[in-house]
Amino acid sequence: MDRMRNNNMQAKLVLLGDMGTGKTSLVVRFVKGQYCDCQESTIGAAFFSQVLSLNDAIVKFDIWDTAGQERYHSLAPMYYRGAAAAIVVYDISSTDSFARAKKWVEELKRQGNTYMIMALVGNKVDLEKDRKVHIEEGTQYAEENGLYFTETSAKTALNVNELFYEVAKRLVKAR
Ligand code: GDP
Ligand code: MG
Repeated sequence: MDRMRNNNMQAKLVLLGDMGTGKTSLVVRFVKGQYCDCQESTIGAAFFSQVLSLNDAIVKFDIWDTAGQERYHSLAPMYYRGAAAAIVVYDISSTDSFARAKKWVEELKRQGNTYMIMALVGNKVDLEKDRKVHIEEGTQYAEENGLYFTETSAKTALNVNELFYEVAKRLVKAR
């Protein structure tokens, strides 16, 4: 019991990435288990809370999703200040979004804390036929920069839970 209590942690988790890459859809998929195929998903709740039970710890995520400010390719540093973890999302069918994702990673590295757990995510793998960013490109960039990497689909739910659980595990391990 005590051990459990000691292993409780609360962590701010932010999502970054180009508009339209599926950040909101990933969060909604994870928190609500649903997929909303609507253009409106960027507008809406920008804050979610979710508790994850791991084998040896309980992690409460305060998830910050943008309300569309990424449209202007800049986010107030306040958005990611104090974040224990960041998920940077690109769309595998868009090379631009991959380039932007790298910029976000660089910005986080410059301004974020050095202990921040970072994940790079290629979303929309269900659009394999439209793929423009090879998995190797994501893997390699992540390796070079010490990021966790995965490819997901908010639409089919592929690897979405795994992503959030992996981030939680790394947080617990790192503390
Ligand atoms: P955000 O701007 O990064 O928050 O992106 P949204 O979550 O609003 O998603 C933008 C658009 O991409 C919406 O039309 C979503 O339905 C769609 N979308 C999100 N995730 C996926 C996915 O995994 N596969 C496909 N095919 N479409 C997706
Ligand atoms: Mg959004």
